[in-house]
Amino acid sequence: MPGGDTIVVIGSGPAGAAAAVQLASAGVKVTLLEAGLRGEARGITARVAGMTVLRLHRPIKTRTEGLTISGDPGTILYEDIAPGGLTNHWSCAVPRFSPDDFLDARRAGEAFTWPIDYEDLAPWYDRVEPLLQMSGTTMDAPQLPAGKVRDVRALGAAWQQIAAAASSEGQAIVPVPYVYGARTTLTMSGTVFNSFVRLVKPIERAGRVDVRYGKQVTELQWSGSAKRVTAVLARDRQTGADERIPCRAVVMAAGAVNSAKILLQSTSADFPEGLGNTHGVLGRYLHDHPIGKLIVDLNTPLAFTPAAYVTRKALDKTVPLYAASCLQWSGVHHFVRSVMHGHPGRLPAAGFSLFGTMAPAAENFVGLDPGKRSPDGTPGVLLKIGYPPESAAALEAARDQMVHLFDRVKLGPRVSLWTIDPVGSAIHFAGSCRMHASPAFGMLDAWSRMHAVPNVIVADSAAFTTGSEKNPVLTAMALAARASQRLVEDLRRGDV
Ligand SMILES: Cc1cc2nc3c(=O)[nH]c(=O)nc-3n(C[C@H](O)[C@H](O)[C@H](O)COP(=O)(O)OP(=O)(O)OC[C@H]3O[C@@H](n4cnc5c(N)ncnc54)[C@H](O)[C@@H]3O)c2cc1C
Repeated sequence: MPGGDTIVVIGSGPAGAAAAVQLASAGVKVTLLEAGLRGEARGITARVAGMTVLRLHRPIKTRTEGLTISGDPGTILYEDIAPGGLTNHWSCAVPRFSPDDFLDARRAGEAFTWPIDYEDLAPWYDRVEPLLQMSGTTMDAPQLPAGKVRDVRALGAAWQQIAAAASSEGQAIVPVPYVYGARTTLTMSGTVFNSFVRLVKPIERAGRVDVRYGKQVTELQWSGSAKRVTAVLARDRQTGADERIPCRAVVMAAGAVNSAKILLQSTSADFPEGLGNTHGVLGRYLHDHPIGKLIVDLNTPLAFTPAAYVTRKALDKTVPLYAASCLQWSGVHHFVRSVMHGHPGRLPAAGFSLFGTMAPAAENFVGLDPGKRSPDGTPGVLLKIGYPPESAAALEAARDQMVHLFDRVKLGPRVSLWTIDPVGSAIHFAGSCRMHASPAFGMLDAWSRMHAVPNVIVADSAAFTTGSEKNPVLTAMALAARASQRLVEDLRRGDV
């Protein structure tokens, strides 16, 4: 067959791993091209009695070489070119999007409307969550549907009181849904769940996926006569040699910045502005989670395990597309400090990461900077992104609400730390190749296929039409599995 019979997956982060697992289970031939080298996902994580007691991992890097920042000058781009991608470092929080997240986007107008609803995604959350072995609650909360949880957790008595106060104001407080519910486990990676170690390695060992390491994809090759992508071009990171890998279809999962970059580099007579870029929206609508850090001193020690998740406010109390959630900090260092304070498991302060939102705007984008070179010899990356003022307002409202809730239960709250971190600090870039019913607003259809190139799907968070305040990995994995299954069906029907 011209173009080969394999489906090429690019990247072994959580989105690529979820796609590879889904494709392998459908019995199709899968080649995974990973720019990272074999053995690069090194680390050790040990968990005892539900607490992570040891975590050795290499430090996370920011990209500087070949990077131009033209929006907020403080913008940071973290990445990890290694098997497992950023799951070598992540914190493993996996909230589902809620039905209201899709409604919120719809009420903001056509440009923000997803071509799918929560009901389209729910069966795919059900499918991928067991792969993650989650801990959390089984109770649906307003703004946060419960996942398929393996280890059921409940908040302690003091938090239940705060949750009751929140509930009377239309918000919920539940245990943070986290990955890997095994109470005692040893993982040979820097986090309890590294997508490569947990998902790709087993199918590689079983011979169900051919993983090719050190293959930095530079371009997808479009055939004007076949009207589809027929090959992927990759550069070997060690030898610098270029290789053409024929394919039947492609799953892009190199992360929201690199997936857009590869597609922009994939020019042809039919697509001079990048693959499938018929309406100039490739790379645009880049968004991120504005993140705030909050520490509140309290007059009574409060539990930090399980960590509490304070949901966003209801839609009728917020402006469209602006909200924030609070995720309590937890971990072994908190435990050590609590022992030193004489209240094991409780501290007279609570710390939170507040994840906020920004309305995606076409002016925020990932582009190419031909004036610079990336380490693989391809053009540099241009990032233009900045937070609108509404983002800080939503974070501040969530901070004030947290303090108000502590006050209502007479914990005597005093804010001892409040910061809003620079753009890119949440490491949740998304939206650069988004789903939308119209190619004028997005590159992908309701099945994450490129409108103009149906044998290419984009599986990572580049596909998000809008970013809710929820951490992105679970939703990216659900979308990746859903799109991969549809791709297999399309290929079997001969539609691609
Ligand atoms: C400290 C930290 C904490 C976090 N906490 C959370 C959390 O609690 N919950 C959550 O949802 N998210 C969290 N995140 C974010 C999360 O890790 C990322 O959103 C997620 O890993 C992105 O997945 P991805 O598959 O799109 O991309 P990545 O994880 O970046 O993976 C991309 C993969 O593609 C490969 N690649 C890149 N370019 C190429 C190329 N040209 N050719 C071939 N391969 C390529 C990379 O090597 C990598 O394997 C956190 C991140 C960090 C750093």
